[in-house]
Amino acid sequence: MVFLSNAISASRLSDSEQTDVQKGFSSTIYGTRWSIEPIPRFELPKDEMPANVAYRFIKDELALDGNPLLNLASFVTTYMEDEAEKLMAENLSKNFIDYEEYPVSAELQNRCVNIIARLFNAPLDKPEAEAMGVSTVGSSEAIMLAVLAMKKRWQGKRRAEGKSTENPNLIMGANVQVCWEKACRYLEVDERYVYCTEKMFVLTPEKAVELVDENTIGICAILGSTYTGHYEDVKTLNDLLVEKNEANNLDVPIHVDAASGGFVAPFVCPDLEWDFRLPLVRSINVSGHKYGLCYAGIGWAIWRSAEYLPKELIFNINYLGSDQASFTLNFSKSAAHVIAQYYVLIRLGRKGFTSIMHNITNTADHLIERLEKTGRFEILSERGGRGLPLVAFRLKKEYHYNEFDIANRLREHGWIVPAYTMAPHAEHIKLIRVVVREDFTLHRCDDFIRDLLNTLSLLDKLDAKSIAVKRTAGQRWTLLKNVTLAFKGHKDASFKQNSIC
Ligand SMILES: *Cc1c(COP(=O)(O)O)cnc(C)c1O
Repeated sequence: MVFLSNAISASRLSDSEQTDVQKGFSSTIYGTRWSIEPIPRFELPKDEMPANVAYRFIKDELALDGNPLLNLASFVTTYMEDEAEKLMAENLSKNFIDYEEYPVSAELQNRCVNIIARLFNAPLDKPEAEAMGVSTVGSSEAIMLAVLAMKKRWQGKRRAEGKSTENPNLIMGANVQVCWEKACRYLEVDERYVYCTEKMFVLTPEKAVELVDENTIGICAILGSTYTGHYEDVKTLNDLLVEKNEANNLDVPIHVDAASGGFVAPFVCPDLEWDFRLPLVRSINVSGHKYGLCYAGIGWAIWRSAEYLPKELIFNINYLGSDQASFTLNFSKSAAHVIAQYYVLIRLGRKGFTSIMHNITNTADHLIERLEKTGRFEILSERGGRGLPLVAFRLKKEYHYNEFDIANRLREHGWIVPAYTMAPHAEHIKLIRVVVREDFTLHRCDDFIRDLLNTLSLLDKLDAKSIAVKRTAGQRWTLLKNVTLAFKGHKDASFKQNSIC
């Protein structure tokens, strides 16, 4: 039996008895050598790194990102139920394009298309005129496909008439999201804009129809302008365009960009006619990752019937043993998002969507009321569910600070709120926009209002000079800086002021 122990001197220890620390080995993440080395940024590292170390370092670095829950700048979903996340994680390894291998994933897309087409009131009375649809990565891809379909259909008609297929044009409000400019430039279609005015921040149907000529492939109407959330008047546009088409023997269609409104309007204002109830609405896009309540990576393009999808755009491919029709820009993608969308649709049903959309509409109205109570702001968005659940506002009069300063100071409280200028021809108007998403509850809204009031009283106390200093400080540049600068001076590079989405 030993009652007394001695600490053995180092010289008496054999090599294999040296302690782990002396050998330079530690299994504690922050005790490893990687903790005191620069993280690889430019070159593939020579050696491996343990999984827990790599995971922790990346997680730690990502902590400097903004908090998605406090991001009031974006329509894109930041909350999904655990069950939806679980389904996504379980299916991430399935490639959606492998229909033969994953027929159930493909079937879930079919069900989503059916549900969404009916939600948008697609006419389904004749088997030869059934709606068609496809899942995309987002509304941008859906819009590319829709513009392509409109262009090809126009070209086909022109060719049949023995007319020129040069110079196709597309009519839209100057308040379009940047993806429309992209689509036009990539697909070589002239952009024809209806400009905004001091009072009208969205498309004026009369002006849009006036711009129509024989080279017009379509008119875009937006259900939920990203600038102010206003729904464009698709019904009036449809009625005026019916007359114009008849009088001029034209067949100009309407595409509705319902990226954010597509999953709001059917529940908050079901009587608003903006969808396939209107005969000239031939295609609609919606972002599943906005009010479709899925995480980023899913959108939908729906056509009124196969007639509006030119055959030459559909690829019938034999892939891994089965024939399939494909109309997408990319090939492979995970099946997880389509599965998540199906989950949300059957989980919520009409009742669930209606409760959520009504709640956020109420929260938006509450925010408006509180902003108006300060006496400082003018509200530029709709209320009472007549537009998207967002609040766009600006200062009523000149202060020694502007909307951008307010947005910057709110960032100190963690809130991410964009300040931007209005669409072309009304760009002297500065505004702030708060997007009300599902997880922006009434009590979170009250926390936001409290921080906004604090911000205002702080700005009141600061002088103009210190506000100007703060305006330029704190800009964090990353590797992106060089890319941005490299292209900025290019003669064809476009510079979109308002990259709000
Ligand atoms: C968000 C948005 C888009 C782009 O959609 P993504 O799904 O982000 O590609 C296009 N149009 C409008 C009106 C939008 O709000």
